[in-house]
Amino acid sequence: MKSLKRTLLSSILSIIAVLSLAMPDAYASKSISIPAKELAASSTFQIDFIDVGQGDAALVECDGHYMLVDGGGSKKSDLIYTYLKNRKITYLDYIVATHPDADHIGGLSAALNYAAVGTALSPVTTHTTKTFQSFLKYLQKQNKQITVPAAGDTFMLGSASVYVLGPVSASEESNNNSIVLRIVYGETSFLLTGDAEFDEEREIIDSKADLHSTLIKIAHHGSKYSTSYYWLREVAPEYAIISVGADNQYGHPTDDVLSRLRDADVKTFRTDINGDIICKSDGKTITVTPSKNAGTDTPLANNNTNKNASVQKSTETTPTAQTASYTYILNSNTHKFHYASCKSVKQMKDSNKITSNDSRDTIIAQGYSPCKNCNP
Ligand SMILES: [Zn+2]
Ligand SMILES: [Zn+2]
Repeated sequence: MKSLKRTLLSSILSIIAVLSLAMPDAYASKSISIPAKELAASSTFQIDFIDVGQGDAALVECDGHYMLVDGGGSKKSDLIYTYLKNRKITYLDYIVATHPDADHIGGLSAALNYAAVGTALSPVTTHTTKTFQSFLKYLQKQNKQITVPAAGDTFMLGSASVYVLGPVSASEESNNNSIVLRIVYGETSFLLTGDAEFDEEREIIDSKADLHSTLIKIAHHGSKYSTSYYWLREVAPEYAIISVGADNQYGHPTDDVLSRLRDADVKTFRTDINGDIICKSDGKTITVTPSKNAGTDTPLANNNTNKNASVQKSTETTPTAQTASYTYILNSNTHKFHYASCKSVKQMKDSNKITSNDSRDTIIAQGYSPCKNCNP
């Protein structure tokens, strides 16, 4: 069954590859700084994916050093504060705002209110939102300034190596400007992706950075505009974590992403179902411990034996079948596609207009990208 899925995935990939011409190279070689056998016996590594509802927060610990990557929305400030306090974490070596969206940085002020910080990383130093102003204010209280990391930068957290993979180039779109980090501990590796979407994924793949990771934090809460088949093939994860709120208004995680994960045979955990998710590594293997619903097999929508069926949507009808009834308007000049009702369609030259009843996936495979306004 597993090999069948793999075969299916690779045939899908070869079709896409032929269509898009630009084939990413095969995996780069693993860059592991400290082999598992050379890690000290006392060495420890753990990532807690904290259930902050719709948002992201991951606390990374290695050998008593800490890095907080995002802190959920400001409504979760108490939760973040208490989380650090309960573990008596009064010093964070690094605090990372992957990007300034409120569901990622809202709770960081509360973290800074409890813990002193060594280095604060963010892709931007200024942003107009109140949430970002508050983050800056709490940094200033500690006489700290933001460091903007560049793709290619590396740093150590205890005996773990942290590689900055993105953003490769600055994007005006907040999500595609997300700081993407790959953490290597012994022979295990972890990819933290913020809300990076296809554009940033593509840039990172093109940068030829080593993406191979045992565990991936799925980007943008399982949005269908992230986590492409290409990306999954390059990362080749065993485990995926989706940080997402129950019944959120965005429909995250999407069936599209859940089925891509199923095709790639990735064991998937979700904070909306599993609560806080604790991932430990001994340098050789990763143990994932969800705080609830641990007995549930991978909580994917495709799992027919899933006891959490009430919170799942059936994927018996494929996403393609669900979206096939839409009429899309393709712009042969910009290579964007839109719903027929989108404002931009009215401004489009007739000579550039192509009407299509193909599925969304087919249109994307033809090299078109979804309009950012109508979000087809
Ligand atoms: Zn975002
Ligand atoms: Zn987000």
